[in-house]
Amino acid sequence: MAFHRRGFIKAVYAVPAVALGTKKLAASNGTQQSQSARAGGTQPASEERARGERIIEPARAFPVAEKVDVLVAGGGPSGVSAAVAAARAGASVALIERNGCLGGNGTAGLMGYFGGTDNDHVQGLVKEIHERLRTENGMRRVQVENNGIFFDVEAMKYVVLQMMEENGVKLRLYTLAARPIMEGHVVKGAFIESKSGRQAILAKMVVDATGDADLAAASGAPCEKGRESDRKTRPMALLFRIGNIDYPKLAKYVAENPDDVAPNARSGMLDLKNQVIRIFGFQQTCIKAHKNGDLDPDLHYIRFEGMTRASTAILNTTRMYDVDGFKAEDLTKATVIGYKQMRQLLNVMRKYIPGLENIELIEVAQNMGVRESRRIVGEYVYQIEDVSRSTRFPDTLCTTYRQGTPGDEQHSPDGGEGKRRERGPESPPPPPPPPTPRIRTPLNRYHIPHRCLLPQKVENLLVPGRAMSASHLAGVWFRGMPNCVMTGQIAGVSAAVAARLGAVARKVDIAQVQNTLRKQGIRIE
Ligand SMILES: Cc1cc2nc3c(=O)[nH]c(=O)nc-3n(C[C@H](O)[C@H](O)[C@H](O)COP(=O)(O)OP(=O)(O)OC[C@H]3O[C@@H](n4cnc5c(N)ncnc54)[C@H](O)[C@@H]3O)c2cc1C
Repeated sequence: MAFHRRGFIKAVYAVPAVALGTKKLAASNGTQQSQSARAGGTQPASEERARGERIIEPARAFPVAEKVDVLVAGGGPSGVSAAVAAARAGASVALIERNGCLGGNGTAGLMGYFGGTDNDHVQGLVKEIHERLRTENGMRRVQVENNGIFFDVEAMKYVVLQMMEENGVKLRLYTLAARPIMEGHVVKGAFIESKSGRQAILAKMVVDATGDADLAAASGAPCEKGRESDRKTRPMALLFRIGNIDYPKLAKYVAENPDDVAPNARSGMLDLKNQVIRIFGFQQTCIKAHKNGDLDPDLHYIRFEGMTRASTAILNTTRMYDVDGFKAEDLTKATVIGYKQMRQLLNVMRKYIPGLENIELIEVAQNMGVRESRRIVGEYVYQIEDVSRSTRFPDTLCTTYRQGTPGDEQHSPDGGEGKRRERGPESPPPPPPPPTPRIRTPLNRYHIPHRCLLPQKVENLLVPGRAMSASHLAGVWFRGMPNCVMTGQIAGVSAAVAARLGAVARKVDIAQVQNTLRKQGIRIE
């Protein structure tokens, strides 16, 4: 075909402004995008240029699908909560979610464990979600680690959908928030993409709850990723559910083989009456499987967690390192590796573990489990010392409690997770089971300030959830789903109050936000 691509394509670094109505609002331009991509730890500009020609997308006018006070992009734990909280604070709200369900990693990622705050101190929308799940017979409270709850993923999907309807949130599923609409450095809404085409949503305030700070990065707000020393992130995981487990047989094996499944409260819970399983074990099985060439060397343990209904369990065991959650190429690579690991694990479980001989693969998570990716560099970057010292802030919008040891890494980017030495006849006996099924790590009280949700350089954008402004280690204290619901709630209320007052997000009257949050059941100490 006589088609000369080079003659047709021109390298450009600026996308023309798009005229909407009488105002000239710009999609964030290419310069901003490459700055933020660099801030997110991706290629330097020179490498980007060397790799890619660019093509101009002709300017087009798009229909304005909605005009709202608050637009929320992303319907995971933080986005759902931001939308409900903003609506209850009196704002008109639209929520855009790329999946066909709400709940983010808790549903599309199959991660049915709400851990990361202390059950005795649950508050606000976290408490409400617990109660709604209980009504649906979709939750089990357990005394492990940080006292979380296991939930039925399908019950969660239903519960959060109901909350949208009850609160009049204008919900669009199957829709991607593609780019922010900018007027100078002020975010004015977002361009969205779906089966209905490309459209615009205009908003007074925007909450970026994409988990990857997609809109913040594209708006030119400074972002970073991973561990400060080398920018490496925690591994991804592709979760899957198996069925046809012979649970009584598995329980017998677990009880009789402390060498393989160390009995402790964090990693040794198989409570068939309460219908929950949480086992981080089978390390000796993995060693055997490695020797026989049956298992990826990156996998050192097998991790079950979730509800055991209908003889099923969820496996949180695959591990993919050195991949970025905000790059489609890396997500694709992680998916391919994840499927290979999953196949191996199915075979290893069938071959080596009594009770799992006849397991079947029931489902694979529709979303890759991304533990850590891009996060904003906010007005303040939360530090691990702020947890250990319980730092108070003048703009605290929530006080929360959680068990754990500040500074402990979870899921190290270096690999080796769950690794244990092979036990031989000369090995000392495994430790005895703890006297109570509860791990006694310290209970920490910590305060979340408004400034950690506010990106630098860009106005009227709030970023809750796992992309909020915190160091790599401090992020451990915010990435749990209850924490994401809490930061979503404070972002939603702050956005609604700012929209009502006609204020810029950064200068909102904090006392009014605090009062509204208290009315919504949030503790501020
Ligand atoms: C493997 C794994 C295990 C975990 N285990 C636990 C655990 O045991 N307990 C616990 O409490 N937490 C756990 N977490 C952490 C927790 O699940 C996440 O940190 C939390 O879900 C983050 O919430 P979020 O709302 O910030 O983002 P997400 O849950 O990632 O939700 C983001 C949502 O935005 C949507 N989205 C993204 N981009 C766009 C876009 N451009 N336009 C529209 N929609 C978009 C996504 O589809 C998704 O629904 C785990 C995480 C992983 C990956």
